[in-house]
Amino acid sequence: MRFHIITIFPNVFSGFLEESLLKKAIDKGLVEVHLHNLRDFTTDKHKTVDDRPFGGGPGMVLMIEPVDKAIQAIKSKEKGRGKVIMLSPRGERFNQEKTKELTGYDWLILLAGRYEGFDERIREHLVDEVVSIGDYVLNGGEVPAMVIIEAVSRLLPGFMSTPESLEHESFNEYDEKGQPVLDYPQYTRPANYKGWKVPEVLLSGDHKRIETWRRRNLSRVEGPTS
Ligand code: SAM
Repeated sequence: MRFHIITIFPNVFSGFLEESLLKKAIDKGLVEVHLHNLRDFTTDKHKTVDDRPFGGGPGMVLMIEPVDKAIQAIKSKEKGRGKVIMLSPRGERFNQEKTKELTGYDWLILLAGRYEGFDERIREHLVDEVVSIGDYVLNGGEVPAMVIIEAVSRLLPGFMSTPESLEHESFNEYDEKGQPVLDYPQYTRPANYKGWKVPEVLLSGDHKRIETWRRRNLSRVEGPTS
């Protein structure tokens, strides 16, 4: 899977790409992340990517021309099935179903906005879909791009060292009412910490009882108990 990120802050990604499972996937060639600085697609000496909004109002808007040039440059070198995704709080809410769908592409272009966002003509003419990672507003699309890279990559065959972990994860299945099934609670040593005990059944070694307990405790979301 090849991810292309169009951003004016490519350095934001450095630590993220250099640690843990994602780094391993990149080293193996399973995942590629290409950072494209939007300023490299400008023509003026100040490398301008934004301008004031027509009609007035606060802030600056990302201009269509550099974004168009960046998208066309990436597409001209790409092969296979791909999609251009704009990141915006106004987009369709990102979830595990969308994550699974995106694993079916060879490449994705993720447009990370800043300031007041993008000239609307980019959405109208240049992108395939608009995605939001939740109902809140961030400073930029870089963190949303990282969310999508990580969520999609970990579903790719070969990414997880224990792929069976994916089978029991939250949001993998839906119940008869259409509600997502969430993972069961997990515990590890010590079995008794400050008098806070692990459920006895999990220490019993009785796999049938453990399985029943876990099934009963799927989708149990709780706050602190004391
Ligand atoms: N004026 C926009 C609004 O109110 O909808 C907010 C722009 S935000 C400050 C700048 C950029 O951050 C957006 O263009 C988008 O790329 C990104 N962004 C912020 N929140 C986001 C979210 N919840 N999901 C996806 N992208 C987001």
